[in-house]
This record gives sequence, structure tokens and C-alpha cells, in this order.
Amino acid sequence: MTPDQIDVLIVGGGPAGLTAAIYLTRYHRRVVVVDDGNSRAKWIPRSHNHAGFPDGINGEDLLRRMREQAERYGATIVEARIDTLEGQAEAFHARAGDLAISARAILLATGVKNRRPSIDGDTHRDALNRGLLRYCPVCDGYEATGQAIGVLGADAHGVAEALFLRTYSDRITLLAAKVIELDPDDREVLQRAGIAIAPSRLDRLDFSGDQVTAHLAGGQDLRFDTVYPALGSDSNNALARQLGVELSEEQCIVADIKQRTSAAGVYAAGDIVMSLDQISVAMGHAAIAAAALHNDLRQKDGQSR
Ligand SMILES: Cc1cc2nc3c(=O)[nH]c(=O)nc-3n(C[C@H](O)[C@H](O)[C@H](O)COP(=O)(O)OP(=O)(O)OC[C@H]3O[C@@H](n4cnc5c(N)ncnc54)[C@H](O)[C@@H]3O)c2cc1C
Repeated sequence: MTPDQIDVLIVGGGPAGLTAAIYLTRYHRRVVVVDDGNSRAKWIPRSHNHAGFPDGINGEDLLRRMREQAERYGATIVEARIDTLEGQAEAFHARAGDLAISARAILLATGVKNRRPSIDGDTHRDALNRGLLRYCPVCDGYEATGQAIGVLGADAHGVAEALFLRTYSDRITLLAAKVIELDPDDREVLQRAGIAIAPSRLDRLDFSGDQVTAHLAGGQDLRFDTVYPALGSDSNNALARQLGVELSEEQCIVADIKQRTSAAGVYAAGDIVMSLDQISVAMGHAAIAAAALHNDLRQKDGQSR
């Protein structure tokens, strides 16, 4: 290892990246986390399914605690965006503007981005905070139990999400952002599940009251206690592509049971890896990746049998 080289560069300071930083610094590894501040966790008004917080925890509070813990064990956290990443095991080179970082190994924890309905930022944040807009039925379907729920996305993805939400409510309506793309089978499944389909496509969502009003192009107004956009997400895989890491059909990183990717010295954790997009899963991936990475470096240094 050259004097200016670190052990691990972690790209992404969400739950996956920060958990890995906590583990790796506690293995006495030299770790830098570079994050450009768009963790999905920061949008969580209050998570009630994350274990250990009976009263729930706000996403930004959770991230702040994780950062504090990682820094306490010696991680350096840099607010920046890694634009280029190249090299191979033992000699990776990354750039974030003028900042250049050399590392023996890389952990990609870059996450995904939800596709959003066209709503201005402040209205979006306010609607999230008031529970009028939700993105993750696994996370907070429970809080929508018995409510009138709108699911935005009249295609296979929307159908799957609406059917999943039947666990919580029998008042569900599928809304079409654009055209209604449902085949006869979808329609039959929805009908059997008692899920309604909006008569015309959505014109706009109105969050001004205590409920969400969906103004339809046909002139009708529908009211919901909450709306789940089911528009899918885009994975932040630009750096994985630069390194030639194998991606899944969904454009997420393919990782093995030790969170190793197809490129030697590159590991991946969290939402960017094809799996259930949850904080607990991201943290689990991170613990596994950190142990594998540490042991792989020990082996390279002849410190393991
Ligand atoms: C509204 C909402 C509510 C949710 N509620 C819950 C819940 O209750 N329970 C639960 O378990 N999960 C919940 N989730 C999901 C949870 O937020 C994610 O599963 C979790 O944040 C994934 O962690 P991650 O570290 O993999 O990715 P992220 O938290 O998304 O972090 C990835 C980070 O990488 C950074 N990054 C990407 N590319 C670069 C680059 N080139 N350079 C520098 N930085 C980069 C991003 O800016 C981001 O900060 C919710 C999500 C949303 C949107």
C-alpha cells in the first residue's frame, strides 16, 4: 500500500455505505466514504419497520447517527460526487472534481432513485411528511391500513403493487399516469381482488387538503388518504459500468453471497444490488461485504491461513 493509498473507498453514504464504514474502520481499515447527499433514507418521515426503534425513526436522524458512529471509528466522510472510477484490485483511482482518491478496494453502495410523479420539490416533501404520498408498501403499508389508497402506474408494476397493498386495504384504485396499459389478465386479477381502475388517465394530483385529490383527464375527481407512485426506480450504476461490473436485467449490480461483484476488489451493498430494498437488508449486505473485503485484503497481505 502506498502512503497516499487508502484500504477502501466507499461510494455512497446511505445505510449500506455507512454501515460498511463502521465495520471496516473497526477492522482498523483506512476508509473514505464519498457521498453526494441523495440517500433515499433522507426522504423517510418516520420509519416504523426498522428494528430497534419502537417509536420509529426519522430517516435523516438515522443517517446522522450512522455518520457519527462511522466517524467515531475513524472513517473520513466527504460530501462530493465520484465522477470517474477506474483501475483494478489494489490500484483503483477515483475522481470527484479536483479530489483524487487511490484505494486498494471499492465498495459500491450507490443506491437507486425512485421515479416520481411531476410534483414540485416542496409539495413532494410536504406530501411525504403528511403520509399523503408513499413509495414503499413494504416499509409503510401498515400505516395505510384500512385507508383509501391510490396506486399511480397502470401497468404490470402498478398491478403488482396494488395487489400487494390488498394486504392492508380493500379500497384501492389504480391510476394511470399516461395510458392504461392493462391486458385482460391484469384486469381480471384486479377485478377478482376488488381493485378499481380509474376511468381516465390522471391529469394532476392535489395535496392541498387532508386527502389527496386525483383530478382525472375525463373531469372526474377521486379522493385518497394516500397515493403510492408505482413508477419504478433507476439504479445509480454509472460507476459500476465504468468498472465493467456485471449488471442484472434490472440494471442493478450482480453480487455473490459475500457481496463480491464480477470485478476483483469491487464489492456492492444495498439497493444497488438486486434484492429487497430495505435498510435492514442494506445493513446486512454491508456487514457481509465488509467482512469479505477485510479478509480478502488480509489474504493478499499474507495475514490469513
Ligand atoms: C419515502 C421512503 C420511505 C422509506 N421507508 C423505509 C422504511 O420505513 N424502512 C426501510 O427499511 N426502508 C425504507 N425505505 C428504503 C430505504 O431508504 C433504502 O432501502 C435505503 O436507503 C437503501 O440504502 P442504500 O445505502 O443502499 O442507498 P441510499 O440510502 O439511497 O444511499 C445511496 C447514496 O449513494 C450516493 N451516491 C450515488 N452515486 C454516487 C456517486 N457517484 N458519488 C457519490 N455518492 C453517490 C447517493 O447520493 C446516496 O446518498 C424508504 C425509502 C423511501 C424513498
